[in-house]
Amino acid sequence: MSEICLTEMYRDCGISDEVLRRGEEVLKKLESRFARIDQIAEYNQLKVLKAMHKNRVDATHFAATTGYGYNDDGRDTLERVYADTFHTEDALVRSQITCGTHALNLALAANLRPGDELLSPVGKPYDTLEEVIGIRPSMGSLAEYGVTYAQVDLLPDGSFDYDGIRAAINERTKLVTIQRSKGYASRPTLSVEQIGELIAFVKSIRKDIICMVDNCYGEFVETIEPSDLGADMIVGSLIKNPGGGLAPAGGYICGTHECVEQVAHRLTSPGLGREVGANLGTNPAFYQGFFLAPTVTAGAEKGAIFAASLYESLGFRVHPTADTPRYDIIQAIDLDTPERLKAFCLGIQAAAPVDSYVTPEPWAMPGYDDEVIMAAGAFIQGASIELSADGPLRPPYTVFFQGGITWYHAKYGILMSLQKLVDAGFSLC
Ligand SMILES: *Cc1c(COP(=O)(O)O)cnc(C)c1O
Repeated sequence: MSEICLTEMYRDCGISDEVLRRGEEVLKKLESRFARIDQIAEYNQLKVLKAMHKNRVDATHFAATTGYGYNDDGRDTLERVYADTFHTEDALVRSQITCGTHALNLALAANLRPGDELLSPVGKPYDTLEEVIGIRPSMGSLAEYGVTYAQVDLLPDGSFDYDGIRAAINERTKLVTIQRSKGYASRPTLSVEQIGELIAFVKSIRKDIICMVDNCYGEFVETIEPSDLGADMIVGSLIKNPGGGLAPAGGYICGTHECVEQVAHRLTSPGLGREVGANLGTNPAFYQGFFLAPTVTAGAEKGAIFAASLYESLGFRVHPTADTPRYDIIQAIDLDTPERLKAFCLGIQAAAPVDSYVTPEPWAMPGYDDEVIMAAGAFIQGASIELSADGPLRPPYTVFFQGGITWYHAKYGILMSLQKLVDAGFSLC
């Protein structure tokens, strides 16, 4: 067999020999971790297949429906596939759910009533939820509907403040929201096991408190999901992990029948619930994306670990550190200067299959406090299961890096980010 000359190919694609060598050195040490990720993907692949077999998925389920969408068997079967995969009683999986924030807002607004209190026992939630909750005043927030909010921060070592949580729970506490992934915060991402312990603690105080997990970026990273350890609802976006890069939009809520029914009646209308909502042709992508999601998530996770290891070896602070066990697909890297943040994003953009020629610029984004720079050359606009990087323009100029539909693309993107740093004057030695 003839030698495959990757070095030359990378050179042709804009990666210098020096940058490639740095990358390959780091990769040599990651073999055993990558093998474990492959095993998790294998396990989760079977989990999805088993749910598809049980529900007898067939070609008729891929048909488009229009109008009201009554009797949409494809849509309803997909929801059972999600429910069976995540081991929940019920699921709502819809293209009408526009994004993760929308899914979370639905789950909260549908299950809370005026006078109820919402508690976050894991600190400040994701930026966009501040307006959903009304932490920052916003039109239509839960606060405007008389739902109050309490928060207990994590302890300095990242563990749960059990005393604080016990003290915060009162007779009005109706729902506890637990964010699995760190999002734009610098706290650690929670493992499913940790989330399970927290849920058990909350339920030991009052069994009827609804425990909801913001599952964004966490799906299929482990062999279990928070719903396996007592979560009443898990909520996420289809342009992240479970959409497998194919879902063109959408969100899901999986959980108890009672919670999911509440959400369905909020998504559409009281009296209508889940019976309406045409799939408008999204079913093939939803099914196939879910089928691919375990592999796609594995590729993205390898990318995150590679980025952590590479940048840590260059002296940057990375969150989580290269050796930390990983519970989501996000990697944060403190780049310390706005110039490096922009160069990193330029590299991710330049490596993209789509819009590779454009230069990302910082911009004010709806739902976010600071200006944000985003690099994404994605097939699905804004899909962050595709290789993407973003970061708010504030010290320490942390870039949040995620995605990669294939590991090879993730690898190339990370190498290109370093190449752009080097081109901007960063020294490798
Ligand atoms: C992405 C994300 C959200 C919000 O999802 P959008 O689709 O951007 O609205 C919420 N929580 C976490 C942890 C996320 O990562």
